[in-house]
Amino acid sequence: MIVLLIFFLGASVGSFLYLAAMRTVARESLLRPGSHCDHCHTPLGAAELVPILSYVALQGRCKTCHAAIGIASTLTELLSGFLFVLFYLRLGLNASFVLYCTIVSILLLMAGIDLATQDVYDRHLILVGVLVFLLLVWEKKAVISALPGVFVWILFAFAAKDRMGDGDKILIGLLLFLFAPPLQLRFFLYSVWAAAGVAIFLLIHGADKKRPIPFVPFIAIGFTLVILFHGGV
Ligand SMILES: [Zn+2]
Repeated sequence: MIVLLIFFLGASVGSFLYLAAMRTVARESLLRPGSHCDHCHTPLGAAELVPILSYVALQGRCKTCHAAIGIASTLTELLSGFLFVLFYLRLGLNASFVLYCTIVSILLLMAGIDLATQDVYDRHLILVGVLVFLLLVWEKKAVISALPGVFVWILFAFAAKDRMGDGDKILIGLLLFLFAPPLQLRFFLYSVWAAAGVAIFLLIHGADKKRPIPFVPFIAIGFTLVILFHGGV
């Protein structure tokens, strides 16, 4: 029962994340107007706002104008729901669960925006920074053990110059504060392996080599895997 509740909490957060990513990319307000059909602009009723189930019940179409609704928002809801459940199974129901879920939600939002526009917003980096600080305080982590890895990363970031975006560099630097050296290395390797896998796939399929690969999605994957495989400690 609790797993189902957490899944729907995650799915609801995912629903908001999708909307927030779309509106950030379009530079619209997050709050107004309320959710509406993009085609006929009819505001959505309460029943149409239920994540996943409303999509299934309406068979992917707007109730008023029957225009097809994209599957992307439902996929985001599913992904976010599953991630919340996995984090719950790994961490239990406590402040760490809430903080890690919040960080991963912001990473999902940032990943979506990065995929669409290659932008990393300062306000999202600041949010991640605040959450990292709260986690360090809550879990009484020894920041000192993270410092050598952070220092190495700063050197790397300078050496990389503009081969990597400043937003990506800062985001990785902030998240490195959460881990001791073995997990810092794993976080870095998981992110790079995920990126390399996708890059090879894209090259095989003849993608444009000039187009830079957005890196935030892979940072999100690396971070999630470290928490799920190693509990973040
Ligand atoms: Zn409509």
